[in-house]
Amino acid sequence: MILKGYAYLALGETGWVEKERPTAHGIDAVVRPLCISPCTSDVHNVEMGYISPRRILGHEGVAEVVEVGDGVKDFKPGDLVVVPALTPNLRTLMSQKGVPQHCNGPLSGNIISNVTDGLMAEYTWIPDADMNLAKLPEGVPLESAVMACDMMTTGLFAAELADIQFGDTVAVLGIGPVGLMAVAGARLRGAGRIFAIGSRPVCVEAAKLYGASDIVNYKEGDVVRQIYEATHKQGVDKCIIAGGGNNALDQAISMVRYGGVIGNVNYFTTSGDLCFSNPRWGYGMSNKTIRCGLTSGGRVRMEAMLSLIRYGRIDPSHLVTHHYHGFSAIDDAYQIMAQKPADLIKACVSLS
Ligand code: NAP
Ligand code: ZN
Repeated sequence: MILKGYAYLALGETGWVEKERPTAHGIDAVVRPLCISPCTSDVHNVEMGYISPRRILGHEGVAEVVEVGDGVKDFKPGDLVVVPALTPNLRTLMSQKGVPQHCNGPLSGNIISNVTDGLMAEYTWIPDADMNLAKLPEGVPLESAVMACDMMTTGLFAAELADIQFGDTVAVLGIGPVGLMAVAGARLRGAGRIFAIGSRPVCVEAAKLYGASDIVNYKEGDVVRQIYEATHKQGVDKCIIAGGGNNALDQAISMVRYGGVIGNVNYFTTSGDLCFSNPRWGYGMSNKTIRCGLTSGGRVRMEAMLSLIRYGRIDPSHLVTHHYHGFSAIDDAYQIMAQKPADLIKACVSLS
């Protein structure tokens, strides 16, 4: 049986492909995507040629289970599930060492749409369904659940990396969808003052909605100077990096106080070293901590995100500015993500 999908074709080029429909064996499953969202990483993969030609894109989606292997215990055909962006192999030593993200080598938990075909397809194969699929709770809208797959889990992970504590003054550098969820995560973890550093009005408004108390426009002058002026030269306790240029790490180190923490989830895709100021680093004596990482994946993490949505702690649906309907609209949604018009945060496609 043949399936249709939307794939990376060649550097900078995407289009439709037909492939053999996967089947489920052992602990794996096959799902039928119902609602998907293209990601900045899909665009990176296409523009940088990080993946193989004809690889079907998409790692943010809600789906219906259509087939399970005989080793799958918790899911059956017809179940509605949320597919986390990362579906690591949890039976690896690196997973036991606490980094399933890198289970079989750097970033190898990023399986779907990187080494196996993604969710912009009629059917998608899922490894280790019991450990990687999350049940869609009643009352959680599909688009909200799709925003949990990567944007919400990554933004909240950034707030965890930055070790946000009650009353902290926090700066979030970059307020695309990930940074916006980091703002929401910082508020949920009890931050006091939250600076959102961005420029586009649609993101600024969303940042206020998610809990930013102050907005800093990086296009209106040096952000470190703006933060120092606003904090009477104290700097911030914590800085989350969720965007910005190659100088973002230097900016973060410069704006956190001595003893402060930086949580980075930004993917610095350009080659070359990241440099930072030695004096601002206190010549190595500043007790400033840098933490970084790829978000964790898997079922437990995703069901935790869905619980936050279900019980009204975070509503990620405000991230979705562009709504599409029908399978063929995947192309429109991908193209808008690649073009990134000023009013875009995220695009979502309802496939059914
Ligand atoms: P995005 O939509 O591109 O957002 C990036 C934001 O950075 C934009 O809002 C942009 O602001 C802002 N920005 C650009 N230049 C800036 C500067 N010089 N100073 C301050 N802000 C600046 O990306 P996203 O989807 O939110 O993802 C954010 C990052 O997380 C990306 O690098 C992505 O690859 C990474 N990511 C990491 C993980 C992980 O697990 N660690 C998972 C998913 C994504 P304006 O648009 O307003 O100009
Ligand atoms: Zn993504």
